[in-house]
Amino acid sequence: MRLVILGATGSGRGTQSELLCQRLDIKAISTGDMLREAIEAQTELGQQVQPYVMKGELAPDEIMIALIRERIQLPDVAAGWILDGHPRTAFQAEELDFLLDDLNQSLNWVLWLEVPEEVLIQRSLERSREDDQVEVVKRRIQLFHERTLPMLEYYEARGRLLKVDGSQSKETVHQTIVTGLGLSH
Ligand code: AMP
Repeated sequence: MRLVILGATGSGRGTQSELLCQRLDIKAISTGDMLREAIEAQTELGQQVQPYVMKGELAPDEIMIALIRERIQLPDVAAGWILDGHPRTAFQAEELDFLLDDLNQSLNWVLWLEVPEEVLIQRSLERSREDDQVEVVKRRIQLFHERTLPMLEYYEARGRLLKVDGSQSKETVHQTIVTGLGLSH
């Protein structure tokens, strides 16, 4: 199974991708976690992306595309993956399709967790990560509307998009996803 999980900051992407990974016995690739780890370890990548992550801006497409190209070819995700946090722009989505073509892989599903803005802000602030200050959270939500939402049409047109109400409890959302993806039997 190869799946992209989309949603604004605080939509439950990380939680839902973890639950699905356990169920399907595959691995999640979280670009946000990868970038935060690189920043922590002060690698070259970390130094490049730190200013963007700390302000809630999007890291440059070229960096993200190269990162995914490398990560997705590692043996631990050969059996399948859930991409959490990527693609986030139409350009990244197109490039992901090219990459998957090159690798002879295809995307089974794109999951979109829809959550009202006030819930997004509340959940994000409860996490208290370094990049979860209120202004940064609001900027991430704004960019989600500007850059990521238009990308959904790209997937909708291909009939691979599953929209889920992400404002419910994590168990309810998980069940809705399982049913929607036809995994319940
Ligand atoms: P997340 O935890 O997915 O919300 O990601 C945290 C931060 O990492 C974002 O606010 C961006 O600065 C950066 N980031 C993660 N994934 C991407 C991506 N695909 N494109 C651009 N920036 C990203």
